[in-house]
Amino acid sequence: MTVTAIVGANWGDEGKGKMTDVLAARSSYVVRYQGGSNAGHTIINDYGKFSLHMLPSGVFHPEVWNVIGPGVALDMEQLIRERETLLAAGISEPKLAISDRAQIVLPLHRLLDELEEERLGSRSFGSTKRGIAPFYADKYAKLGIQTGDLFDEARLKERLEQSLAGKNILFTHLYNREPLDAAALVPVLRRLGEQLLPYMTDTTALLHQAWSGGESILFEGQLGALRDPDHGIYPYSTSSSTLAGFATVGAGLPPYAVTNILAVVKSYSSCVGAGPFISEIAGPRADELRRRGGDAGEFGVVTGRPRRMGWFDAVATRYGLTIQGATEVALTNLDVLGYLDEIPVCVAYKLADGTITENFPVTARLDGAQPVLEKLPGWKSDLSTVRSYDELPPAAQKYVEFIQAAGKVNISYISTGPHRNQLLAR
Ligand code: GDP
Repeated sequence: MTVTAIVGANWGDEGKGKMTDVLAARSSYVVRYQGGSNAGHTIINDYGKFSLHMLPSGVFHPEVWNVIGPGVALDMEQLIRERETLLAAGISEPKLAISDRAQIVLPLHRLLDELEEERLGSRSFGSTKRGIAPFYADKYAKLGIQTGDLFDEARLKERLEQSLAGKNILFTHLYNREPLDAAALVPVLRRLGEQLLPYMTDTTALLHQAWSGGESILFEGQLGALRDPDHGIYPYSTSSSTLAGFATVGAGLPPYAVTNILAVVKSYSSCVGAGPFISEIAGPRADELRRRGGDAGEFGVVTGRPRRMGWFDAVATRYGLTIQGATEVALTNLDVLGYLDEIPVCVAYKLADGTITENFPVTARLDGAQPVLEKLPGWKSDLSTVRSYDELPPAAQKYVEFIQAAGKVNISYISTGPHRNQLLAR
């Protein structure tokens, strides 16, 4: 029996989706526990290439239960679209369970997200405009709508009216928009709810039963440690915890249920959206790494925006692994670096006051920080067909060992390409 959390140690886009897709083959449950459709997991397997935003990455395994836990920001339209895309690609109907406690991302959340980013202009946070910040703001202000509310018309209307009372003042006076009408929203939401009704259930009870029955469970994290609202680069963070520690909260199992925390680390750095990114590179070097990265270049799955690129950052990664509580690491995208004679890595930060530190500081102290770089020898070869750790060129093994020493956590998997079989156990 294992309960494994697969989480990001960096800024997101580390390749968690691929790792979840591969490890789901040995699991009975894959559980999303936070975030919403603002992240995208790209998965390439025998069925094709898919971008999942809302569905858990176990959907390609027909025997696996895919669970949306109470902590998730449920975008109903997105989920329905994704399911239809999978079915159209010939994938069998996934086993899907949506918590009746999960809350719903409303059209007004997406609208607020868009209007607020527009209002902020150059000070914007680089939101994916999927409504996530307004959704979680409402959730914690106790204005959210649970999926269980969708089937009681009077209750739903009352909850929406309560939510819109304040927001309509913002829409009309801050954003110069028409106010929204709760009564008009009710049938739209109820129709979507009806479509998802077959999947809605008490997922907490389902997971407790699975856990006590000794089933293998994977918690699938979204984004990475540095986007955590408490421990990351606030305010350039997301709105729900990206940490393994939150997995049991957002899913409904006890904290001691998790037996394994697999943190996914990228062999270089990439970051979408605003915020400090100390090992960032620019110009042709960044363009080349971006072009070669991922499966088709480093571009945001949700927005298509070019990702910001940088060298591997030992300071941020060690911190990310620490706050995740990682028990093992999957190192991804090692193949991408095969074109470099020498590979720069960031080993410390020089802060604006001249202090050199190996510890990740608070956001305010990251302003003006510079990377302290070292260079490791490159291996100048294609790793995509390598099938065992021993076959890796010595320089690539040295690079892996460097990252393991820097992160202080055992690297147990190395990913050398986007496909399922491009994964070395170590
Ligand atoms: P996630 O959100 O953490 O799942 O990451 P994304 O899906 O946003 O980004 C990872 C990208 O890298 C996807 O396009 C994957 O297909 C791709 N990918 C995953 N692992 C590897 C790898 O080891 N090498 C290469 N070249 N691409 C990879």
